[in-house]
Amino acid sequence: MLNNIFSENFQFTTRYFNEKFQAIAENNAKFPQSVIFEGSDIYGELFFTLELARILNCEKDGSEFCNCTNCNWIKSFSHPAVTIVTPIDFKDMDSGSKTVISTKQCQAISRKLLETSDYHRVFIFLDAKKEALTELEEKQVNKFKNLGYTLPEEWCPAHISHKVFQDQASNVILKSVEEPPKNTTFFFLTKNREDIIQTIVSRSQIFSLPSSVQGQNYGLVANLFKNYPNFTLDDAFNISQEFLSELKEGKYSALDLILMIEEYLTTLIKNNLNNPNFIQSAMSDLKKAQTAERMLSATVQAKTVFNWLLIEFVKNF
Ligand SMILES: [Zn+2]
Repeated sequence: MLNNIFSENFQFTTRYFNEKFQAIAENNAKFPQSVIFEGSDIYGELFFTLELARILNCEKDGSEFCNCTNCNWIKSFSHPAVTIVTPIDFKDMDSGSKTVISTKQCQAISRKLLETSDYHRVFIFLDAKKEALTELEEKQVNKFKNLGYTLPEEWCPAHISHKVFQDQASNVILKSVEEPPKNTTFFFLTKNREDIIQTIVSRSQIFSLPSSVQGQNYGLVANLFKNYPNFTLDDAFNISQEFLSELKEGKYSALDLILMIEEYLTTLIKNNLNNPNFIQSAMSDLKKAQTAERMLSATVQAKTVFNWLLIEFVKNF
């Protein structure tokens, strides 16, 4: 199971991978062979990826404080089968540019894959520079310090881009991304999927790791909807009450609040395109919110509308 810091920050992607690990344990399901993470938080993406690599290679049950050799190697960036690929890592240091991932590096990966391995091999593609972290970056890293990783000295990670990972090099590993040997996974850490070549995108599963949905227009809703989509009847009544006291305060109209719910659900849907079950249920809730919007304009009382809508969001009762 992934650490709580991930379920708090990247709820749906975390749920996907936790369910995947369970399916692997129960019926030998397959882990995706190529994964693209997109989002603004490079540290979130990096630690999420490392934790996935760690759970895949742990000798025990993958628990977050495991001390087995594989877990320790990964936490100190020295695991033989977990390869960080950047312009300055996994590179013969005397040769070539330090600003791009070269075709030579990609050829070396293809050669590496010809050997058999007892591990789940992981290749993590990103950008990195040899420089100290800024104070702000240190802060971002510290968010994840409970995970127990030691970052390499003078190593500043960044999102991958076309400039760093150019078409020629990308094409060298394309075949491996498409048909890797078993127990091999490629990860690409991007701000946006458009930052890597389309032929890799089309062979990968894409997951969004939003930095945070809070602090935007629908922050209020994001706060109240912490348990969404698993509302209990109690949640429904409490949230409805909260909305009504917001109305009393006079900062928002009932319509404002319903529109925030719609915006929140729309964002969740956009961020979880890989999760068809979730989308189906969120789409149906979005339709209900639109019905609530029409009820309000037909002058149904706000209290009735919020109670009705929130009870509709309760899935099992
Ligand atoms: Zn372990």
